[in-house]
Amino acid sequence: MKGFRTNQMIAVDWKPNKQDKTPIYRQIVKYISEKIAAGDWPIGSRLPSQRDMAQTFGVNRSTVVSAMEELISYGILESDFGGGTRVASNTWSIRMSQPPDWNKHISNGHFRANLSTIQTINKKEFEPGYIRIGTGELAPELYPGKLVSRIFGRMPEKIPNLGYLGPLGLPELGQALSAWLKERQGIEAKPSNIMVASGSLQGLQLISVCMLKKGSRVYTEAPSYVKSLQIFQSAGMRLSGVPLDDEGITYWNMKEADSDSLLYTIPSFHNPTGTVMSEVRRREVMQFCQGLRMPILEDDAYGQLWFDENPPKSLKARDKTGSVIYMGTISKTMAPGLRIGWVVGPEAVVYRLGDVKMQTDYGASSVSQWMMTELLTSGDYDIYLETLRRELKARRDNALTALSQYFKGIATWNKPSGGFYIWLRLHCKVSMDKVFADALKAGILLNPGNMYDYGENHAIRLSYAYADPEDLRRALKILADIIEKHQKR
Ligand code: PMP
Repeated sequence: MKGFRTNQMIAVDWKPNKQDKTPIYRQIVKYISEKIAAGDWPIGSRLPSQRDMAQTFGVNRSTVVSAMEELISYGILESDFGGGTRVASNTWSIRMSQPPDWNKHISNGHFRANLSTIQTINKKEFEPGYIRIGTGELAPELYPGKLVSRIFGRMPEKIPNLGYLGPLGLPELGQALSAWLKERQGIEAKPSNIMVASGSLQGLQLISVCMLKKGSRVYTEAPSYVKSLQIFQSAGMRLSGVPLDDEGITYWNMKEADSDSLLYTIPSFHNPTGTVMSEVRRREVMQFCQGLRMPILEDDAYGQLWFDENPPKSLKARDKTGSVIYMGTISKTMAPGLRIGWVVGPEAVVYRLGDVKMQTDYGASSVSQWMMTELLTSGDYDIYLETLRRELKARRDNALTALSQYFKGIATWNKPSGGFYIWLRLHCKVSMDKVFADALKAGILLNPGNMYDYGENHAIRLSYAYADPEDLRRALKILADIIEKHQKR
């Protein structure tokens, strides 16, 4: 509050402490503010001249000038006409004690925020009491605790140290992955073609910031997992959705594709629809993209989770010209918390990604990398995957039975041959926000299909991997009732 003016001249009898680490001008700012705040120097009172103050304080005049300027900028002091300085306000203390305007700062960052539904899901997933029917993660009961303890038991003699690693990650893991990718998936990749990432999501992030031109187009299946993220959009790329049919992406709809564009695809057990790209479509997609010299980013997060037979060979396994960047991860098969994924591509590409990775996090966890190496080289991973496939298949069957019990007439769905997801398409155009909110009230957390799509849809991404099978059946019954209630309105 500004007050009346007084001509009272202030007496100064204080000196800064030159031994103190606090800069002198800060000490002066603090001293004057405290005097004013305490009411010792009322509003309107005149301060001694800068020269006098410099003399009293035993400092250079420029130090006093800096302190005065700061106090004037806060509105605590003001210059008066005669070239002197007066006390202008004593309410700054309220202003000064306010924190920075964080809202302004956080909206200045270029990385976009998550969609609000996803923020809600991310929060609710960690609150107990919900049946999670859309979670893209293995159930805690499926975590192979005994296997992991056995592997960890062998670790101490395997780990020579836990120092930083090079840009491509742990060389032993590069070798193990190279051998495993060849043997299990027919992918020819030297260790120098493989970069270990902190999850495949980091692979995506690095690609978006290292390789793509701003404004260029990233084609994806519509719907697609990557549409639920803001990675490419935040880096200035434009996402374009290409419709899916039963055989995969309808690549002929990529009308403006050129060598600056990129195709991001999940050919095997697609997230969120569970679709598997057919053999023929894979060949055609490769031919189409290679003809345009357009890079392909193949996300194979779920490829190992087949139930009865392997899906057709990955795009990378067919790649003779270095057109495909391939990403794999252990997150969906075993443990997302290990944060281990791998990016396979031409050397120039993985070196570039590795160089930026070194500036980002200096490498994925070495403990996780040693563990992954041991899992692969011991053969334990392959044995474990066999049991996991059986378990997931049983869970899929449970979900399909429940759907035919409760959702006939309400929705249509696919029968996935691997992966985690069933794409449940509702027949009527109910508001998905309302379904989401009502399900939440009933203790069910679901993933509305809208978050993966380019336009509105009336679908739900179901996952049979997470919820307990009995809980999932119960939740589906409740959900069917909720949807029917909305249908009738
Ligand atoms: N790609 C796909 C298709 C996924 O579904 C997920 C996880 N939802 C990821 C990548 C991210 O996996 P990671 O934990 O390896 O970063």
